[in-house]
Amino acid sequence: MARIVMKFGGTSVADLDRIKNVARHVKREVDAGHEVAVVVSAMSGKTNELVGWVQNTPKVAGADHSIYDAREYDAVVASGEQVTSGLLAIALQAMGINARSWQGWQIPIRTDNAHGAARILEIDGSEMIRRMQEGQVAVIAGFQGLGPDNRVSTLGRGGSDTSAVAIAAAVKANRCDIYTDVDGVYTTDPRIEPKARRLKKIAFEEMLEMASLGAKVLQVRSVELAMVFKVRTFVRSSFEDPDAPGMGDLLNPPGTLICDEEEIVEQEVVTGIAYAKDEAQISLRRLADRPGVSAAIFGPLAESHINVDMIVQNISEDGSKTDMTFTVPSGDVEKALRVLGENKDKIGYDVIQNESGLVKVSVIGIGMRSHAGVAATAFRALAEKGINIKAITTSEIKISILIDGPYAELAVRTLHSCYGLDKS
Ligand code: ADP
Ligand code: ASP
Ligand code: MG
Repeated sequence: MARIVMKFGGTSVADLDRIKNVARHVKREVDAGHEVAVVVSAMSGKTNELVGWVQNTPKVAGADHSIYDAREYDAVVASGEQVTSGLLAIALQAMGINARSWQGWQIPIRTDNAHGAARILEIDGSEMIRRMQEGQVAVIAGFQGLGPDNRVSTLGRGGSDTSAVAIAAAVKANRCDIYTDVDGVYTTDPRIEPKARRLKKIAFEEMLEMASLGAKVLQVRSVELAMVFKVRTFVRSSFEDPDAPGMGDLLNPPGTLICDEEEIVEQEVVTGIAYAKDEAQISLRRLADRPGVSAAIFGPLAESHINVDMIVQNISEDGSKTDMTFTVPSGDVEKALRVLGENKDKIGYDVIQNESGLVKVSVIGIGMRSHAGVAATAFRALAEKGINIKAITTSEIKISILIDGPYAELAVRTLHSCYGLDKS
């Protein structure tokens, strides 16, 4: 007998038939004698619709039109998960399973005050555990919690993954299964590269990089929590027949296991390729090359909560002037330009240029630590396809390359094949 947390994403609960199918997956584990908690997302497309409603509601007269009350945003967007948690509990009850829904505030899942992107601080799992031991299935609304102001909070887009892993840690589950519309983590997004291969296992560090560099199959924070709390997390498909052979395997269910690198016997040099769209580049030209200039640029941007990613500085020939280029999410360009404009005198640049619609493609692999020439292979392959590189950043286990948006898919496929990822 084990304790299992099962999370179902938006496409898995997209309509009533899919919800019934989810109930069959849950029934399989209940019938096997396991204690089960289920975490659900909103029906697919619902959260986008709710966000759109918030953004299109008239604001207070005279208020800054880009700003709305984040607490009310959370009150609205958390509702999608409330619906699916109730519907799944009803579907389970109809199958004769003892189940009840839980909203984040009822457990409670305590979060910090950052409405719209809150972090989970604490989960009191005691009552859920007691009921699970009595045979009741807990059906939990993902993505939501309760802030210190006693108001509903949400965890940022894709946050139900984080709810699931955090709950698995809180109830000391033996396993956390993230059910989605693909049957595991692939070497790259299978929607872009049909030759992508499913990975049997991926190391926490690699999954963390994949997720933060754009692979939205798991929310970044969920991978961090799985790593810190050693939650045995699998990514698997809800679209397979719930009763197919092997689906109920306790130790080796079908899908991808996120695990410590020591558990991976044959580590490849490159594990996967990720991409992130909607990047923008800002260049400040002819800055004075003096101590403090970087602080003068990036200090005010940080204070305005603008997430700066790649930074490239060119050293000028005579040592007196320099150029600084960096990237921000496309949605933050206007704000960044405003902040830089307000600080022009302190920074002391000549002109400012920007370009949106860029894409960052990244090559990820723990094996890079001990292999030379990985970056050179990427540069050569992209050059052969005539793809121009605008900026590069590297770390021990990843290389990120900024390119023009229209080349995104070609670049992903080129990098995927140049490391032999399409061959098993
Ligand atoms: P859910 O609604 O179940 O949370 P998401 O849409 O958030 O599902 O995440 C699943 C999607 O992630 C897949 O449909 C796939 O297109 C995308 N994806 C991106 N990169 C990868 C990858 N490396 N492996 C698997 N899926 C990926
Ligand atoms: N429904 C939320 C979203 O679309 C949370 C999730 O799906 O994980 O972002
Ligand atoms: Mg998701």
